[in-house]
Amino acid sequence: MLGILALLACPRALPPDPATPPAPAPLAPMVSPTPRLLVLVVVDQLPIRLLQLPSELYRGGLALLTGDEAFVSTARYAHAITYTCPGHATISTGASPSVSGIISNDWYLDPVPGTDSIYCGDPSLLRVETLADQVMQAGGQVAAVALKDRAAMMLGGPRAQLVSWYDRSQGRFTEPLAELDLSRWMSEPWTALHPDVYQALVGPDDGPLESDPGLGTTFPHPAPDASTFLVTPFAGDALVDAALAAVERQHLGEDERPDLLALSFSQTDYIGHNYTSESWEALDGMVRLDASLDRLIEALQDRVPGGITVLLTSDHGSFPADKLRIPPDAIPNAANQALASAGFEGEVVFESPSIYLPEPLRGDPALRAPAATAIAEAVAALPGIAGAWAWRDTPVEGPYAEAILQSVDPQRSGEVYVMRAADALYDYPGAEGRGTSHGTAFPDDTDVPFLAWGIGVAPGHTSELLDVRQIAPTAAHLMGLRPPPSSQGSVVTQLLITP
Ligand SMILES: [Zn+2]
Repeated sequence: MLGILALLACPRALPPDPATPPAPAPLAPMVSPTPRLLVLVVVDQLPIRLLQLPSELYRGGLALLTGDEAFVSTARYAHAITYTCPGHATISTGASPSVSGIISNDWYLDPVPGTDSIYCGDPSLLRVETLADQVMQAGGQVAAVALKDRAAMMLGGPRAQLVSWYDRSQGRFTEPLAELDLSRWMSEPWTALHPDVYQALVGPDDGPLESDPGLGTTFPHPAPDASTFLVTPFAGDALVDAALAAVERQHLGEDERPDLLALSFSQTDYIGHNYTSESWEALDGMVRLDASLDRLIEALQDRVPGGITVLLTSDHGSFPADKLRIPPDAIPNAANQALASAGFEGEVVFESPSIYLPEPLRGDPALRAPAATAIAEAVAALPGIAGAWAWRDTPVEGPYAEAILQSVDPQRSGEVYVMRAADALYDYPGAEGRGTSHGTAFPDDTDVPFLAWGIGVAPGHTSELLDVRQIAPTAAHLMGLRPPPSSQGSVVTQLLITP
């Protein structure tokens, strides 16, 4: 399991303190020409190390987007809550969760145990405008298509003209793309394209840390059903079909006003969670993503000759899976014990990363502060926990203070923010000791590729660590538009062709 680290690790300069936000830079002179279609690609769970595979594996879209014609960089999330919804919201708004309001995938407003949590798959939960809004305000069209509902919604925002995602209960995309026939992607077994290379990189196919999503843990994997489809690279091909159908339907790229196609490939996230990033499945998934992206970019170039710009990034990375495991109940149990020892009644609710106090403790600062502080101390002492912060009541300090503060919202977050350590992973019930995850302020999770290619993009490879909050303003600038009003990042000027 260490093999891939040695093979793939690429020494990089020590990045700057994540607490330092990028200094606002003046807008560069308007680039010209602007693309007719900007394609914003999110690859869900794309750790930097998976982009650094031996170059013979990438011949398609990833080769183009990391090649001599492209702008190639690494961008870091300023926030600690490196989950899908916060990541997609930061990409689309240029703002941290503390500003966008998207503080996790799920949260509570009324944290009585047993009540339903709020799921982030609702674009009206976004507190700020998106890149999509800027495009539409300038008369452009927006289509957002993804394999996860929350990814499509966060990228499109509440007003996009077309938003569609893959519905696993139906085995098809939601309206208006429901008629798309996906059967050809669900009829074949999944075979490994380069078994010898994968063996050399990560060892045997049957890795001890892989969990079985219902397709087995060794190649060849059987043809998937509507649900296991998402754990195969064929779902990425289906997404390309859906994206091209959306382009046709909305007439994207057909007039002078720049349009936006935003898409999110989520199969990489499901593959990573189940099989880990250091698996034949993850490597083959990347090789096949490379081909899917190639087909997408070629088709879009045919349709919009000389008129597209492609940006690619990710909502988070992932950790190598050989880690200490934290049982699911360890955190709420420790919190409840601390509460009882401090003389308080009631039970907490833990919805990562938040611990919510029971009422009346939550609503009464005189009770809340001692209760939250006692819980934070007890949870921080657990094995595998990097820290726990009673952020409403005590100053947040230490190397991750700014990342924590960028991740919380007074209405939506709990009273204690919990972050696991770099040597640990949360365990999933039913898959104990297996699979991998993400969700911390450590570089394995926070650092993602930021690649750009096409109209208006100056090629170059930079070792300067960028901020993911720069992507939305940079995309807007490339399209000749204003940045989303709440974006916190500056335009990446070295990416722009200057007249
Ligand atoms: Zn994700």
